[in-house]
Amino acid sequence: MGGLPRFDVPGIDDFTRPYWDAAAGGVLLIRRCRAAGCGKAHHYPREFCPRCWSEEVVWEETSGLAGLYTWSVVQVNDLPPFGARVPYTAAVVDLDEGPRMMTEVIDCPASDLRIGMRLQVAYRTDPEGVVPAVPVFRPAAGAG
Ligand SMILES: [Zn+2]
Repeated sequence: MGGLPRFDVPGIDDFTRPYWDAAAGGVLLIRRCRAAGCGKAHHYPREFCPRCWSEEVVWEETSGLAGLYTWSVVQVNDLPPFGARVPYTAAVVDLDEGPRMMTEVIDCPASDLRIGMRLQVAYRTDPEGVVPAVPVFRPAAGAG
């Protein structure tokens, strides 16, 4: 695997470093606009608010809780490193703080997935990865 490019995570730069550092510590960050009349949160992290283009955007810790919006069970993916771990559940979740996020659902059979089901963030750690911990989601404790 060593020399193969990876397509699952972006590289870390000065802007996204706080996000990945937080993820390594078990905290999912979003960005929230502080401009008057906006206040919109977004994900993935951007330097400008995607709603009003303000630069008054700050990092904010999330609860790590979300609802499942939609998903697709991926059976075939030739791009490394996905090929080694099919099938997996690619998903879009609605964070409780508002932003919609593309991610992956783990520890849940596809037959148990339901729209709106409660999820909580977990982390796939990869010591050899571009980033040390990638946020994924699993069914929330006590949900059912
Ligand atoms: Zn804004």
